[in-house]
Amino acid sequence: MGIVVQKYGGTSVGNVGRIKQVAERVKHSVQAGEQVIVVVSAMGDQTDKLVSLMYEVSNHPPRREMDMMLTTGEQVSIALLSAALQELNVPSISYTGWQAGISTKSQFGNARIVDIHSERILTAVHSGKVVIVAGFQGVTEAGEIATLGRGGSDTTAVAVAAAVSAERCEINTDVDGIYSTDPRIVPHARKLSSVSFEEMLEMAALGASVLHPRAVEVAKVHGIKLLVRSSFSDNEGTFVKEATMIEQDIVVSGVAYDENVSKIEILDIENEMGVIADVFNTLAAENINVDMIVLSEHGADTFDLAFTVGKEEAERTLEMIEARKLELKYRDAFSDKKVAKVSIIGAGMVTNPGVAAKMFNTLAENDIAMKLITTSEIKVSCLVPANDGKDAVNVLHSAYGLNADSDASRKSG
Ligand code: ADP
Ligand code: ASP
Ligand code: MG
Repeated sequence: MGIVVQKYGGTSVGNVGRIKQVAERVKHSVQAGEQVIVVVSAMGDQTDKLVSLMYEVSNHPPRREMDMMLTTGEQVSIALLSAALQELNVPSISYTGWQAGISTKSQFGNARIVDIHSERILTAVHSGKVVIVAGFQGVTEAGEIATLGRGGSDTTAVAVAAAVSAERCEINTDVDGIYSTDPRIVPHARKLSSVSFEEMLEMAALGASVLHPRAVEVAKVHGIKLLVRSSFSDNEGTFVKEATMIEQDIVVSGVAYDENVSKIEILDIENEMGVIADVFNTLAAENINVDMIVLSEHGADTFDLAFTVGKEEAERTLEMIEARKLELKYRDAFSDKKVAKVSIIGAGMVTNPGVAAKMFNTLAENDIAMKLITTSEIKVSCLVPANDGKDAVNVLHSAYGLNADSDASRKSG
């Protein structure tokens, strides 16, 4: 049997009892003849706690020091899990990101993995040990410790699986698999037996935290067999894989929800050549990711610009725009944090007219206002008032026939 990479998320290693349970599961796999590499997250909400602790010291924490701090969370869980395995007489060794040979780019807080020198991991695996790797971290060329962005342990797992040519990568988490939407928002969400890389990439990018978007990207590029399943049961999970023709028939396969979004509006900008590029260059220079963008002209002279950024970037974005008010020549700019983004996703959408219209009708019938809209071949996203966000997910989920007790999803649209 080949190598299997198993990732366990924060809730799955949330306390010592759960770490012991994970050790039992890993032991079970070892006894079944598998060579196991485990990737773990920090315990429970430890990463959030560490972030808050840093903000008690500084309102603008240096990104390097933030990463230095956050990586300690994963270092605790790898040590505990390795010790728990050895208590069960399973030989094991824990490695931090740099010990595991994970090289990243030098962007603190959002570093991309560039390479994994897997010799050390493989030597340990071949000597019969379970290797436990700290998720979410790596080391830059300059020898600095960097994190991969929140939720990044999934990406560590898939990248390690690619580097060692693992047979499969299992993401063990606190739900049974990937659902048609977040089962914590819609209790009768449908569990999917499989989902295509493209759909999962959209779902993850649009807020479905069950997988880190870059993990899906890496799995697709390297053809990794990726399975999302529960840490607490042996229920069948969900495979993420290449789309098949049958799946193309499903018009809408999921609804995603993202609260981490703010709208920025700039009003009455003078219509000069290059001014839009100027706005977005200013933000790009500060590494601010912009998502939905809508431009509306008032005759030939002025226009309004509205776009979204992550909630934690809203203030910084507005400050930068205000700092350039003279050059950008606008009347007013403001931010709105009381919004949420709701998206429908489906590979079959591209060939089915009326899917977007149905979304807009459903929201209108339920008195939910739409503030911004964007579309791609396989998704439609609407920005709605934050108060209506979860209702929007629920009504869209039933409108497209996605509820577990409904079988209309294949033909709805
Ligand atoms: P972990 O700590 O294991 O990485 P996360 O909290 O990052 O776990 O991801 C799992 C959570 O993702 C679930 O508890 C669920 O609330 C949320 N989630 C959002 N969208 C989906 C979806 N479509 N299917 C399953 N879970 C989802
Ligand atoms: N511990 C990190 C976080 O909470 C990474 C992860 O869990 O994937 O974001
Ligand atoms: Mg996660």
